[in-house]
Amino acid sequence: MSPKSKPPALKVGAATDVGRVRQQNEDAFIADEFVVGVADGMGGHLAGEVASAIAVTTLRERLGAGAATVELAVAAVVEANRAIFQTARGNHEQRGMGTTLTAMVVLADADQDAADKFVIINVGDSRTYLIRGGRMRRVTVDHSYVQELLSTGSISEVEARSHPRRNIVTRALGIESTVRVDTWVRPFVKGDRYLLCSDGLVDEVDDDEIADVLSANADPKRAADALVAVANRNGGHDNTTVVVVDVLEGEPADETGGMDRDLMWIDQPATGGAISVDADPSLPITAEVPITPASQRRFGVGAMIFTFAVVAIVTLAVTLFFALGNNDKSDPVSPTTVTSTTVSTPTTRLAPTTTTSSTSTSTT
Ligand code: MG
Repeated sequence: MSPKSKPPALKVGAATDVGRVRQQNEDAFIADEFVVGVADGMGGHLAGEVASAIAVTTLRERLGAGAATVELAVAAVVEANRAIFQTARGNHEQRGMGTTLTAMVVLADADQDAADKFVIINVGDSRTYLIRGGRMRRVTVDHSYVQELLSTGSISEVEARSHPRRNIVTRALGIESTVRVDTWVRPFVKGDRYLLCSDGLVDEVDDDEIADVLSANADPKRAADALVAVANRNGGHDNTTVVVVDVLEGEPADETGGMDRDLMWIDQPATGGAISVDADPSLPITAEVPITPASQRRFGVGAMIFTFAVVAIVTLAVTLFFALGNNDKSDPVSPTTVTSTTVSTPTTRLAPTTTTSSTSTSTT
């Protein structure tokens, strides 16, 4: 059984919309007492809807009363990944479907009267932002091709916003049999506001405009509705989903120590009530939990290489035996050719397949 403690004092508002171009809304969200999240499905023929629905349903079932530990929260995400992966394998039309997921899960200890911490989870390019004291910044780091270019300094933030391949994700639920999940443990701080959203919002509305809309709308539901409206006004090329979470109770903000040390806030400019934006994506990850059993994959490739090597040696020995034993033959097979081609072939399997979900935004 899941732990059960008093729900945290949160005020949550959510909104989702198909947008102005797509026929289907493949996004899904959850806005429960102990878990909130946004999932952005990908894959044609309604498959994206299936994937994001499985993710949200699994979270509701497994984390509806919170999670006792970060590991249990991650386990639920891994379970969702497995469910989507297996569903896709069992249905030809859903092959290759996947979904992003960003979520906040209350760490509910049965011994505690009230939960004081939660974990932010992320896989893919949906985002979680934190707004505090008139400032906003991203907490999650996108798993996307463009984010990798940004991280290596190959392109700028401005170039990233219009990059033709900005919608390719490098990690998603359901694409492989296992998944790596990024996690950040955070305390409930009274007055904090969190924004969870799909890329339909951030592709149409830049961070400054998002901050302005959040600043102008005190009520979370009105803020969510307003953000979706702005995304549609700016083009609405994708589905847009927004969850806004206001923390009503919790420890006082401590910006100099404790669990907030990993957030490097910029100084608030003297521009009245306007929210400034720190969009530096290079946040440290508090606790990344690797789930991928890489050792198994390496063993599989290693075994293949070993097998090919044995075959190559036997082939070489047999070739040499006949070549040396029958000098009348004018054109013996070159052993060098056999060895090199045979051994080099399986090493191509080592390449990671992180971009298999690149169909995320193909127009349906
Ligand atoms: Mg999207």
